[in-house]
Amino acid sequence: MGSSATDAVQVINASGSSPFVLICDHASNRFPERYGDHGLTPHQRLMHVAWDPGALAVALSLVDRLDAPLVHSNVSRLIIDCNRDIDAVDLIPVVSERTDIQANAGISQSERDYRMENFHAPFHAAIDALLDTRLAENRETIVVTVHSFTPTYKDVVRPWPIGLIHGTDETFTRALREALEEDDPTLNVGWNEPYSARNGVTYTLEHHGDGRRLPATMIEIRHDTILEPPGVASWASRLARCLQSAREGWLQRATTGHLGGAVPAAAAPNRQT
Ligand SMILES: [Zn+2]
Repeated sequence: MGSSATDAVQVINASGSSPFVLICDHASNRFPERYGDHGLTPHQRLMHVAWDPGALAVALSLVDRLDAPLVHSNVSRLIIDCNRDIDAVDLIPVVSERTDIQANAGISQSERDYRMENFHAPFHAAIDALLDTRLAENRETIVVTVHSFTPTYKDVVRPWPIGLIHGTDETFTRALREALEEDDPTLNVGWNEPYSARNGVTYTLEHHGDGRRLPATMIEIRHDTILEPPGVASWASRLARCLQSAREGWLQRATTGHLGGAVPAAAAPNRQT
């Protein structure tokens, strides 16, 4: 199946046959041994401040359903947030929603460097290596990042069971929204909700997707719907179905010229970016 793991990152089903490459930045609430409990209670380490609850379960189910490769982080976002640019103020957050992360306050430059070199860089290097291999093999590639969000943030209730976020190129994300709405017309699909690129949350999406001119989308699932296996199975099944139909519609538009943005790698065989 082609899996590899380090302290920072795990790559699952690297040679999977799917055009979709799954990425899960906030998969883990693991704190490497040198950080102890990071000044957090067991309860805090289980909550969304530390990771995206349920997101990895959905991503793993999509691996099985689509035969897709998955790259996921093995370290809590409270050590370093792999979905942030290296100069972002919340790369190593000192506060998350209303939780002070005291252990991150006033850390030395050498500790920042350590976290970048040992956790952030290897995560993105693993994604780069996977994408480099696929593009060298001229394989069609669509980048899909999988996240979850908390139902309530700073007392504001978030009504969408799912939100879609796009980077520079919104065409594939739009096709996925159409597929989801066609699949269930009653589904309230958030568009650039509960965040958007303006909030600085699209580093991975833009760096690996738009940066390589690959179609890409960021999926955010409200985590109360994916904490138990039936919810995980239900979302994974729906997403597998809708990602495939979104791709079909999107490819059709791409090859008939009704598409402003990225061209699928399969339709542009000589593109190497
Ligand atoms: Zn996330």
